[in-house]
Amino acid sequence: MAKKYVITIDMGGTKILGAAINSKEGIVARVKQPTKEGAKPKEYVAAIVEVVNKVITTGKLKPRYIQAVCLGIPGSVNPELGKIGLAPNLGLKNFFIKDKLQPLIDYPVLIENDVNLAALGIKNFELTEKSKNVLVVFVGTGIGGGLIFDGKIYRGSTFVAGEIGHRVVDTSGPKCGCGNTGCFEAVASRTAIVKNIVDDVNSGKRSFLAEQIKSGKRIKSRMLLEAVKADDAVVKKHLQTASNYIGRVLADINNLLNLDTIVLGGGVVEAMGNFMIQPIKESFAENALKDSAKTTHIKITKLGDDAALFGGISLVGELLNIKV
Ligand SMILES: [Zn+2]
Repeated sequence: MAKKYVITIDMGGTKILGAAINSKEGIVARVKQPTKEGAKPKEYVAAIVEVVNKVITTGKLKPRYIQAVCLGIPGSVNPELGKIGLAPNLGLKNFFIKDKLQPLIDYPVLIENDVNLAALGIKNFELTEKSKNVLVVFVGTGIGGGLIFDGKIYRGSTFVAGEIGHRVVDTSGPKCGCGNTGCFEAVASRTAIVKNIVDDVNSGKRSFLAEQIKSGKRIKSRMLLEAVKADDAVVKKHLQTASNYIGRVLADINNLLNLDTIVLGGGVVEAMGNFMIQPIKESFAENALKDSAKTTHIKITKLGDDAALFGGISLVGELLNIKV
């Protein structure tokens, strides 16, 4: 039987990841390309075509092996129309990306929200068959969610389900990028955690990260872990606060949905490991209804950034009925 692959493209605000992948061999070729800041729609289109071609040459793949190109977009997406509703980090709005890409790419082009794609990847390539009702939450610049009900992705009636980051958790909290006040992602995203630490340092509190912050360096997730290991009170406090919010929101959602598995991902959670998952579990247990929560497993994804790449395999299965 001829080899079959899907090429998944994961669009980020700063980089485009591309990979050729199938369920037997996993990722066989991988390409990473930075995106131009403030890129225009047609520049994104050109960059995607370039990454697709680079993946094919990197993997020395015969074009006839490629079954489809799957695009993961950080924003709202209508997979049926091939349209991006709003992708704030890419600066794209009401953009029919499939119409622009399809004439330039020889394979069927599919698009999906990036967290939905990651949720599909995690459901089918990380969890066991037994996990059927799953919530996947990525904590990063914002907080994104993907829902799997009875083994299938739940997209909602207008394809915007899973926007867990904009659940209002503190009406007197900080303003959110969406225009509301006190959204979950405005208090518990990586951006929010770092902002709170920076504010404390700038107001004179002592911290392991003070020098980094004062020299204007970007605070990476790994540095937060080092600060926790050095018993930094400021960093620990803000991670604890974020973990409390995360546990509470997960409990709230679990009361509604009675999930079997909740999977967390994103640089900060993955770097922190037990330092974050433990307090999240405690806050979850404290706030969830016992009957709903006693069988719910909470874990950190092992696939990490590759989850969305694996999701492409599931998407061609669902939308094109092709097994790769
Ligand atoms: Zn919001």
